Amino acid sequence: MMKDSIVQLIRGDITKTEADAIVNAANTSLMGGGGVDGAIHRAGGKAILEECMKIRNQQGGCAVGEAVVTTGGNLRSRLVIHTVGPVWHGGMNNEEQRLKDCYRNSLTQADLNEATSIAFPNISTGIYKYPKSLASYIAVEEVSKYLLNKETKIKKVVFVCFDEENLELYKNELKKY
Ligand code: ADP
Repeated sequence: MMKDSIVQLIRGDITKTEADAIVNAANTSLMGGGGVDGAIHRAGGKAILEECMKIRNQQGGCAVGEAVVTTGGNLRSRLVIHTVGPVWHGGMNNEEQRLKDCYRNSLTQADLNEATSIAFPNISTGIYKYPKSLASYIAVEEVSKYLLNKETKIKKVVFVCFDEENLELYKNELKKY
């Protein structure tokens, strides 16, 4: 699809995905939560939360659109990249820019930490209510831009869709490339 990198689409549980790094749709507190955040902390164990608490003590958490890195704990993945998606408030509050930031900053963190494969959940499309169609467009566009324009070592990006609706939307987006 893009330069030397491959992009995969799967439906399933991101905690079971094989990748150097998996991305967590965290919240600004970094203290865990529901949805994919809860699943990652449950599967990865307490080492992840311990590192999140250290980061919280050092820098007060993670801002919307930013990304921070911890161990993968008991997960197969070496790293978890925690990024905070925007809450959807109708679209006039920089939601689009912040969601782009999440994808770009997560990929940058993967490169900085020498991860050559990375798996993304459908950031912001659960509890944060970002419209799935708009979010899938942004995810695919931002990832492809990064893979084409940057001196990246990333060889594989996996989009992990939890629900059928997202899977169909991503299929359609990826067709364009
Ligand atoms: P946000 O607060 O960013 O909306 P959520 O965790 O509520 O985060 O939802 C983000 C996406 O992650 C949703 O599409 C949800 O269906 C999905 N999701 C929930 N659990 C998992 C999981 N175990 N693996 C992959 N995706 C998941």
